[in-house]
Amino acid sequence: MPYDNAKTYDKLIFELSSPGRVGYSLPAPDVPVEPARAQVPAAYLRREPVELPEVSELDVVRHYSRLSQMNYGLDTHFYPLGSCTMKYNPKINEDMARLAGFGRLHPLAPDALAQGALRLMHELAGMLAEISGMDTVSLQPAAGAQGELAGVLMIKAYHEANREKRTKVLVPDSAHGTNPASTAVAGYEVIEVKSDANGEVDLGDLARHLGPDVAAFMITVPNTLGNFEPRIVEIIEMCHARGVQVYMDGANLNAVLGITRPGDLGFDVCHFNLHKTFTTPHGGGGPGAGPVGIKAHLEPFLPAPVVVKDGDRYALDWKRPKSIGKLQAFWGNFGMHVRAYTYIRTMGPDGLRAVSENAVLNANYIMKRLESHFDVAAPGPCMHECVLSARRQKRLGVTAMDIAKRLLDLGFYAPSTYFPLIVEEALMIEPTETESKETLDAFCDAMIQIAKEAETNPEVIRSAPVTTPVRRLDQTRAAREPNLRWRPGA
Ligand SMILES: *Cc1c(COP(=O)(O)O)cnc(C)c1O
Repeated sequence: MPYDNAKTYDKLIFELSSPGRVGYSLPAPDVPVEPARAQVPAAYLRREPVELPEVSELDVVRHYSRLSQMNYGLDTHFYPLGSCTMKYNPKINEDMARLAGFGRLHPLAPDALAQGALRLMHELAGMLAEISGMDTVSLQPAAGAQGELAGVLMIKAYHEANREKRTKVLVPDSAHGTNPASTAVAGYEVIEVKSDANGEVDLGDLARHLGPDVAAFMITVPNTLGNFEPRIVEIIEMCHARGVQVYMDGANLNAVLGITRPGDLGFDVCHFNLHKTFTTPHGGGGPGAGPVGIKAHLEPFLPAPVVVKDGDRYALDWKRPKSIGKLQAFWGNFGMHVRAYTYIRTMGPDGLRAVSENAVLNANYIMKRLESHFDVAAPGPCMHECVLSARRQKRLGVTAMDIAKRLLDLGFYAPSTYFPLIVEEALMIEPTETESKETLDAFCDAMIQIAKEAETNPEVIRSAPVTTPVRRLDQTRAAREPNLRWRPGA
């Protein structure tokens, strides 16, 4: 029988183990082992051999190279995961993050020995402030969700400093799950505001909820249906008139770079997802970074320390008596700051504007090509992503989840499904600006093929995926009863 390479996909590295096989070649020790061992207190000596796989270097390389190919990733596949801005991560970012002065700098090095790194952080914060129209930016939060928490805590500290007792935060029903979550973690009661049929904020419902007990209104712009909230300025004015702070969830900033700025619209707080808009790696590719920008009235409450500039020297300022405190180990995910800084400097102002123009163009191209095959969630044109509904296909027995799985067989990662919650059978497609027309066309062809299969051969969709290393997983069970440990013989 021929040797089946694919079979080793099923094996864990422990199962490739062969007693006595080694993955290193070291010279024999040049000190006597037993006398050295006698120096170690008995309590610290290992009695049983450690249960590590015994494999050769080649076994290790092949195993992990194979594993790396079992997944869909940006460097191998189109990845239209809506709301996540899965754009290409330029490799020059990686080169810069590995420069010895950045990559090997100890986070506790004194300010005097870290001037370049502090300058980079100060300048990146300044560039994000310029891009967003905010007055100051903190780079500390490690994700959008933590940026939200930081922003809401600053709002809370602000109201408390004004001796105002406000206990509620308003969030639209179209919001990303992190919005109510971070608000609740900050100790607020979350109140849902209704959307109208187009997915825009229902102003009547907003007005009903705005009151002296409301601390903030948190909203994503463009909204999670992929549309620019047309009455956003009016919404912000309504909030401010009642003393309510307005928070922009900036996850969709890729639609508006160089076109409009949250600060100019009137927002008090806004976070950035460097791993979405500013090409730092995403998910398994690396830690996130969710800087948060604020207007001047919130500056006393910034997370400490703050990177400050005095003449041509940079320093970490810890003397911030009103600060909400420190949020992160060290100063945030600095390696991501280097990557985002590199990206912004590479693109320049015109380049960043072109990013958003092309992102919006690409999403509208997809929407136009697919609109006769799927229902659209809200009438177009859309911004940088388009939300379809598979409600028509559902009547044929094919759900948004089935379509997502079928796409894997056809060579694409799937769009976001079932988000936003207010759209039945939602498929949220975000192509980003970095994809070519050829790729967009291939994806649309696949989607159209699936729409036709739903009518002629729904079973092929319902039984997908068949080409992936694993088929459909029980996602609920995987989350509730995770089995993360290999046990010998189990
Ligand atoms: C991604 C996202 C968030 C959360 O950001 P993380 O960096 O994943 O914590 C919040 N809101 C929206 C709309 C998002 O798409």
